[in-house]
Order: sequence, then structure tokens, then C-alpha cells
Amino acid sequence: MDITMDKKYAEPAKELNVYGAFDVIVVGGGVAGWSAAVAAGRAGADVLIIERFPFFGGTATASLMANIVGIRNQVKPNDLQVMRGIGEELVLELIAIGGAEKSRNAYESEQRSDRRGDLSYNYAFDTEKFKYVALKTALGAGVKILFHTWFSDVIKQGDKVTGVIFENKSGRQAAFGKVVVDASGDGDVAYRAGAPFWQTKAAEAPRLNDGLMYKVAGVPADTKAPGCLQGNTIVFWGPSPGAHNGADADELTREEIDARLAVYDDLNAKIEANPELKGAQIVDTGVLIGIRQTRFITGEYALSGDDVLEGRTFPDSVAVGVNPVIHSFGYRRFLTHTGYDIPYRCLVPKTVDGLLVAGRCMSSDQIAYESWRAMAHIFAIGEAAGTAAALCAKDGAEPRRLDVKKLQTALIAAGAEIGQSRKM
Ligand SMILES: Cc1cc2nc3c(=O)[nH]c(=O)nc-3n(C[C@H](O)[C@H](O)[C@H](O)COP(=O)(O)OP(=O)(O)OC[C@H]3O[C@@H](n4cnc5c(N)ncnc54)[C@H](O)[C@@H]3O)c2cc1C
Repeated sequence: MDITMDKKYAEPAKELNVYGAFDVIVVGGGVAGWSAAVAAGRAGADVLIIERFPFFGGTATASLMANIVGIRNQVKPNDLQVMRGIGEELVLELIAIGGAEKSRNAYESEQRSDRRGDLSYNYAFDTEKFKYVALKTALGAGVKILFHTWFSDVIKQGDKVTGVIFENKSGRQAAFGKVVVDASGDGDVAYRAGAPFWQTKAAEAPRLNDGLMYKVAGVPADTKAPGCLQGNTIVFWGPSPGAHNGADADELTREEIDARLAVYDDLNAKIEANPELKGAQIVDTGVLIGIRQTRFITGEYALSGDDVLEGRTFPDSVAVGVNPVIHSFGYRRFLTHTGYDIPYRCLVPKTVDGLLVAGRCMSSDQIAYESWRAMAHIFAIGEAAGTAAALCAKDGAEPRRLDVKKLQTALIAAGAEIGQSRKM
């Protein structure tokens, strides 16, 4: 046995089966990855998406985070809906099948019309209907799906990512892609590729802690308990066992154990505060604790708290953010403008080619992240990444050198909001 004194094991080299060669490979099927795959597929790319769970949504479904916020700006007259495109389409389809409604118990915001271009700030949704609609949409976009599949490493030529290695029931395999989109949340692909990143260590501040969401049935419709209400069920923000590192296996396990052991005490405390919940039962917990933040990949630009608070615009805008900064100031700090731009450069990691990052590992500082983390913005960021990846694959361009005007034109043509509707 080849075990060295410093507990390293030299894995023997072996040949892997090649699963295929694609224009675009998306790693992770959360809100960002799903949007990226759908956008790339609709743009004509041959797309493979790999996801460890057998459904899409990531935090939104696996972690029961059933409340999309940040859809519309919150400065009167609230006339800019920033989540358009694929995210808006999903919400409208959910509304049509009784799977989403303006959140009643989560945040206060005015009710709009539930029509295209006139959505409210936030919607609570049925996580099972989300999975159903997201799956049908991905299939409709021609995306090749591999569920139950764990990304484990990158294939590189020099500084360029040219493919991925993954594991599933069929074994360890390789797939090649002209462009890879890292939508793993934790930046697993960029990390394995050696891209620079930063991370707040456990117990360091400021950072957003993780939390176990859980679903309770037998809830009266008029309950005042804060949560995501759907019919006679409600999803609660549950135990948050302090700062752990969701990208470290031991710490993540510790966190899951602590949160799961605390969940009934958490419900009992809520019943005490809201007696109408008496008799309500936990029917589900997230299969994964809700992980708010781990690695942030350092990109060609890092969105800053000042950009967010001052409402800065950028010539390479691919999405618009409006969500409040929720933590750094000790309170929910609402923005005083109609939105800040999210530049394409935040999706392009420094030093590594062939790769885009989408979703909660995007390049940013802490304060900015606490705003753009809202799912409404993550849908838009994912759509931008997928569209960019498809264009790069088609033109043989490196993400770093993509013609951003072409990307912006494609996004607007597909119905996305990148700041073109903002009244200056
Ligand atoms: C507790 C909590 C409460 C929140 N509250 C709200 C709220 O009220 N409203 C709101 O809008 N937003 C909220 N957010 C933020 C929002 O949910 C997230 O920012 C967003 O969902 C992140 O999406 P993502 O696609 O970037 O990442 P993720 O949801 O983390 O998706 C990553 C995907 O990649 C997959 N994956 C990861 N690693 C691998 C691998 N190695 N191989 C294969 N697959 C992999 C995962 O299974 C997952 O599907 C909350 C988040 C948390 C945790």
C-alpha cells in the first residue's frame, strides 16, 4: 500500500471512458446552472449539464429555499422589473400551474399584476412544481442532462479548461467542452482549475451563515409566522448552527448534524410564538443545509459594496441587481436607486481560460454579494453565462475576449434585462 507518512495516497493513473464532446458543459444545476444550460441550449449550443441531485434548483429545491426575491426594484414607483428572460418565464409558468404566488409572510412588498413585466418583488413557490417546470424547460431547450453525477476534476491544456472529470454509477468518466460554466455554487471547477479565489473562514465576520430550511404541514392559511406559505404548508428558515465552511467535508457534516438535531426545538419555539401552529408537523427538511457562501472566484472585475450602494452602471452590464444588502450593516439596507449593473467581467475568472463562473461563486466582495445573491439576480447571471458560453463556443472565442456587445444584443433579444429599460 502506497501511503506516505504525511497521509497522502498516490492514486494509480488509469484510462477513463470519454462520455462525449460538447460545445458547453455546465457543472451544477442550481438556479444559475439551470438558467445557463437553458440559455446555451436555446442559443443553439450542444450542452451537457451535470448535477449531483436528480433534479434542478440546488438551494431553491434541495435546500427548500422557496422564495425568490429581488425581481423588481424597491424605489418608488418600483417600475423596473430586473428579473426578465428565463427567470420570469419560470415564475409565470409556476403561477399558471398554481405553483407560485406573491410571498405573503416573507417580506412586505406591493402586489403587482402577476403578468409579464409586472411581477412583484418576490414570490414563494412550490419546490416540487419548480423541479417539474425546470426539468421540462431544460429538456425543451435540448439540454443533455446527467443527474446523480459528481464533478470531481478538470481537464486542462496549459491555462485552459478543456473538459471535466466526473463520477456516477457508471464510473469515473471524462467529457470535453469548448467552454465550461462553473455553477457549482462553491466554485468547485474554478478551484480545481487553480483559479484565484477568496473565502471567509468559519467564525470570521462578516459572512452569511448557513441554515436548514424545513417544511411544515397543517398550517392555517392566516398564520402570521414568517415563512414561505404555500397552501397549508409553510417553509421556515430553520436552525443556523453558526459559521462553518460548506466547502469542507468535515465542517459541512458537523453543520448538518448540529442543524438536524436542533430542528424540533426550532419548530417548538415557533409554535410557542405562534400558537395557531399547534399540531403542525415537519414533513420535509432540505436534503442539503442551505449554504449561503463559500468560495468567491476572483474575476476580471470584483463587484464591490460601493458599486451596489451607489447604483453604478458598467458598459459590459449583463444583469441588474436591486436587492437590499441583508447583513453587513446589521439590518436590511435597502438601495436608494433603481439598480446597479452586474458586469460580464465578474463571470470571467482571472488566469484560467475556457471557463465562466455563474451564481453564488461569482467575483465580488462581501457587501455586494449580500445583495446580488438573491435568486432573481442569480437567474439573470446564469442566463448571461450560458448565452456567453454558447457565443464563445460558436465563434471559437475565449470568454475573456468575447465581444460583449454581441452578448448584450443576444441577451436583450432573448428578453433579458441588462439595464436597457432603466429610466436615467
Ligand atoms: C438559508 C438560505 C436562505 C436564503 N434566502 C433567500 C431568499 O429568501 N430569497 C432569495 O432569493 N434567495 C435566498 N437565498 C440565496 C439563494 O438561494 C442562493 O443565492 C441561490 O439559490 C444560489 O444559486 P446557485 O445556483 O448559485 O447555487 P446553488 O443553489 O448552490 O447550486 C449549485 C448546484 O451545483 C450542484 N453541485 C455542487 N457541487 C457539485 C459537484 N461537485 N458536482 C455536481 N453538482 C454539484 C448542487 O447540487 C447545486 O444544484 C438563500 C440562501 C440560503 C442558503
